[in-house]
Amino acid sequence: MKTEVIMQQLAAKHPGEAEYLQAVQEVLESIEEVYNQHPEYEKAKIVERMVEPDRIFTFRVTWIDDQGQVQTNLGYRVQFNSAIGPYKGGLRFHKAVNPSMLKFLGFEQTFKNALTTLPMGGAKGGSDFDPVGKSDAEIMRFCQAFMLELWHNIGVDTDVPAGDVGVGGREIGFLNGMYQKLARQYHTGVLTGKGMTWGGSILRPEATGYGALYFTEHLLHQAGKSIVGKTVAISGFGNVAWGAAQKATELGAKVVAISGPDGVCAIPEGITPEMIDYMLVMRASNRNKVQDMADKFPALAQFTPGKKAWSVPCDIALPCAFQNELSEDDAKELKANGCWCCCEVSNMGCQPGAIHYFQHNGVLFAPGKAVNAGGVATSGLEMTQNCEHLSWTAQEVDTRLHQIMESIHEQCVKFGTQADGSIDYVKGANIAGFMKVAQAMLEQGIV
Ligand code: GLU
Repeated sequence: MKTEVIMQQLAAKHPGEAEYLQAVQEVLESIEEVYNQHPEYEKAKIVERMVEPDRIFTFRVTWIDDQGQVQTNLGYRVQFNSAIGPYKGGLRFHKAVNPSMLKFLGFEQTFKNALTTLPMGGAKGGSDFDPVGKSDAEIMRFCQAFMLELWHNIGVDTDVPAGDVGVGGREIGFLNGMYQKLARQYHTGVLTGKGMTWGGSILRPEATGYGALYFTEHLLHQAGKSIVGKTVAISGFGNVAWGAAQKATELGAKVVAISGPDGVCAIPEGITPEMIDYMLVMRASNRNKVQDMADKFPALAQFTPGKKAWSVPCDIALPCAFQNELSEDDAKELKANGCWCCCEVSNMGCQPGAIHYFQHNGVLFAPGKAVNAGGVATSGLEMTQNCEHLSWTAQEVDTRLHQIMESIHEQCVKFGTQADGSIDYVKGANIAGFMKVAQAMLEQGIV
């Protein structure tokens, strides 16, 4: 297998699908050497099969807004790979959603889910519906119209969607209500990220952020460092940033920045519990403005329009917002301001130039598919509880989340340790995830 050749073929087949091609390139580059030691993979054309989704559903979603106007969006579900279990992955509602974005996310999800040690295949879905400025009633009508199409293709043992950017507990509620109505199926496990009274798992809302910080602790420990007293810059203020800010603060770090599409809030004294709670209010408002934090807490947060979280000096950077949100220039600015660790929490949050810069300039770096896997892992735990018709305690879920993040870190170390003793977490995560999926595909024949 030659990465260059496969990439050329893929680019010719899928022109203009930049994010998808970027995600595939990153994985193929890291696994090429290991792959070429396995002629049986080459014979079964594992890579050529693995880079294409199993199938994609595309559908029209029509709904009526509060002014009585008819609105039409596009909906998708990309079922990427089911070699190790039923399709599993979130739904993203964002104006920029397109097939390339969902294919990159579904591809990443396949490896991430493999890393969790749980039996889940990879999928992703969503819509170009823009939740910004929408009322609760509009969100509900959109979710219902979306499910009207999607419900045929999902199920507790086939494909289990969850949240992602623009889809949280409220949206999962509307989607689940409509699913039950249409399917006449009342098993609680067809979606994850549910509310606590209708099948949700305790700690699922916090899990991506908590898991990211557990991973960060292991990475720092491995490097002989500690998180206590360190300054942390976080991008975004959604569900993932909220969990990360909470756990970072609890572990003794100081969160000195959060950001949004409108700019950054610097928080020199560190984020407070009241501010962390207010992040939830900001997300529920659908305004998508981080300036609201500075307006609410003027003595604690200073808003600068048009700037990113990466302009605020910090020890540790945690991208928690969107793909490609951290560029090579941002990486240079972070390093110049003293940053020495970046744990990517968003999916593909760092551009390739930024990762390259971090890795060659002494900044510890770990990729999203390892760092953020606690979210989908806890979805997996939610599925198990649903199948058992039981709810576990917070302590039980948290202990398992801890164990899973520790095991992901171990897999990265196992497959990413270099000849000079340093750890390439990108390589480690990609090889570990790939080997598991590849072996499962090989043993199940040419299908
Ligand atoms: N959207 C999340 C992710 O990127 C969670 C997916 C899930 O829980 O299924 O992993």
